[in-house]
Amino acid sequence: MSTRRRWAATAAAAVLTAGLLTHPGAGVAAPTTSVDLADTATALVRFRLPDEAMFRDLVAEGADVAARPRTTPGQVMADLVVTGRQLDALVARGAVAVQVIPTQSGGARRVAPLAEDTLQFLQAYWWSSGGRTFLQTQVATSASDDPDVEITVTWTTADGTTGSFPLSRFEDSGEYQYHVALPQRLPARPIRVSATSSLGGTSRVITPAAWPNATPPPQPSGYQRDFIDAYMTPTDISARIRRLARQYPNLVDVLNLPNRTQGYRRTAAAYLGDPAAAAVVVESVKFGDQGLNGVQVRTVDPQRPNSPLGAAYRDRVLTVSLATDAGGKVISSTDDVAAFVSARYPQRFRAFVEDGSAGLPMPVAGPARLDDGLEGTEVPRRPWTVQALRIGAVRDGSRTGVLTYSQEHAREWATPLVTLEFAERLLANYATDAETRSLLNSVEVFIIPTVNPDGANYSFNDFNFQRKNLVNHCTGAARDPARRDSWGVDVNRNYAVGSYFDGYVGGSGNCLSGTYSGTAELSEAESSNVVALAEAHPNIGFSLNVHSYGGYFMWSPGAYKAAGRITLPRPSIDESKYFQDSARRIVGAIAASRETVTWPAYTGPVADVLYSAAGNSADHLYYDLGIVAWNFEVGNDRWNEATQNWDGVGFQPPFDEAHAESQEYADGLMELVRVARDRGAALP
Ligand SMILES: [Zn+2]
Repeated sequence: MSTRRRWAATAAAAVLTAGLLTHPGAGVAAPTTSVDLADTATALVRFRLPDEAMFRDLVAEGADVAARPRTTPGQVMADLVVTGRQLDALVARGAVAVQVIPTQSGGARRVAPLAEDTLQFLQAYWWSSGGRTFLQTQVATSASDDPDVEITVTWTTADGTTGSFPLSRFEDSGEYQYHVALPQRLPARPIRVSATSSLGGTSRVITPAAWPNATPPPQPSGYQRDFIDAYMTPTDISARIRRLARQYPNLVDVLNLPNRTQGYRRTAAAYLGDPAAAAVVVESVKFGDQGLNGVQVRTVDPQRPNSPLGAAYRDRVLTVSLATDAGGKVISSTDDVAAFVSARYPQRFRAFVEDGSAGLPMPVAGPARLDDGLEGTEVPRRPWTVQALRIGAVRDGSRTGVLTYSQEHAREWATPLVTLEFAERLLANYATDAETRSLLNSVEVFIIPTVNPDGANYSFNDFNFQRKNLVNHCTGAARDPARRDSWGVDVNRNYAVGSYFDGYVGGSGNCLSGTYSGTAELSEAESSNVVALAEAHPNIGFSLNVHSYGGYFMWSPGAYKAAGRITLPRPSIDESKYFQDSARRIVGAIAASRETVTWPAYTGPVADVLYSAAGNSADHLYYDLGIVAWNFEVGNDRWNEATQNWDGVGFQPPFDEAHAESQEYADGLMELVRVARDRGAALP
């Protein structure tokens, strides 16, 4: 028996014992007002409480409330699981023990040792992939506050082979969720599993279900696929969009989304001085490509006494003449120079003291050349028009619309390959494949292959881990060019539902954070474009937001508030079932390509299976626009037979892996279209 036993730790007993109340063999003993229970023995006892307040107090204290009978009008009754010691304490507080409710095996005097916790399988699924069998389980313990509970799952196959593995406790936002383990390699299909805990609890024996247990229709012979032969930059994607529009004019419109992005552009900056000693950062107000790259800046000693701080900008050289004292000694500080330049040339330059250089004497330095630091030479330096493909036989809004969009996060290079492969298949097979023709006659498909082209250009040319867009909202020392790879807004944290600005978890107000949410909801062109497209086409009923990596398939809610882990509203039970049933179809279609099985533990609401993502696009589309909105994380972990482990694939895997992802997830998108068609057909 645990020495850490508390009110809360006995919750399991409540469930077990309460269950027995409904058992045919369970009777209720004759009422008694004299309940006698040994100090450490446990029993289920019906109490009459002095008032409601005491009931509320007991709940708040974590009392083990088995039932709340309302059999006696005007009286506050409660069935509590108590030890003899707790019973005495309750009586001392004015409660009257009116009845001992016997367990199946006897009365209060003979209390069987009860399991300390109750275990419940939340999931038990098996599947095959590459000729191997895997099992994944989630188990919840009722001893949810006890961080030391250890849970072990035991499996058995048809031939009697058995084995076991431990689960790990999963907490989120400080709240216990469940115990889970990575999928386990098994020698064969498991026919039963059970769980035991270190507190003595045992679960019911469960027969694991097959996952996802859904198979897409076969692709007919002659079906065309595989239109992807390399990673694609935004420029490549634009060319592909143009080509598709030319090739299939009867099936495609190209939509120019309304908010042009900043473009692959940055302001030009230089250190005036040595950042390791003392320096001021001078930055252009306009972008470097607007004539500011190459401008020089320097400080000079005027070589005369009592000279005021001054500056001149001539022939693309900014010369700052430092102030001197009566003896001709330079007396300007870094702060003086930064403030002076910003005030004197507000339209042209801004300057700030490099972090760590505040209050230092300004050195004679330069000339230094301002530069935007961008390495890409093939990328146009102008605002970018983000484009969408609108695909369908009838493109007038009368058909159910399906929206898919990719590369909100710049570094996720495989994601546009998925959506473009999907577009190509729809278009190439329309003329020859009856199923494709049926789909494009009954739905319209909207595709934004790259939501965040500026960030993507930066990822391809400058910093491959770039996640955000290129808009720099930082001020002051956070604009130091040394921070260049941390600037930008996380497009998928900039939407208007469940946002950081609303107090939800998973976005940041720090401009250097990887999840910086921007200056306001929809402050960015990229996120505004997705919403604008969806709002302009109210026939869009389904959406899929394609990210990488990890192998997830998710829906709302995607965010919660930290205090109490309050999520955005949960879908109804019916709608949750629709999400789950459709997810099985789509996961099944993904698996058809190379037996990549998205794990059941990674299939579900974002907030449950991944993390809280405040202000993400799918929540905006679902809650604000009523769209059935899903999210992919393509790039599932791969089973490594040599190490018996799962290996992550990353954002920019070797192309062969990215290519395989494009094929299997395009299969998943095709199933989404079938889901949309079936839903449309089912509606009146
Ligand atoms: Zn992403």
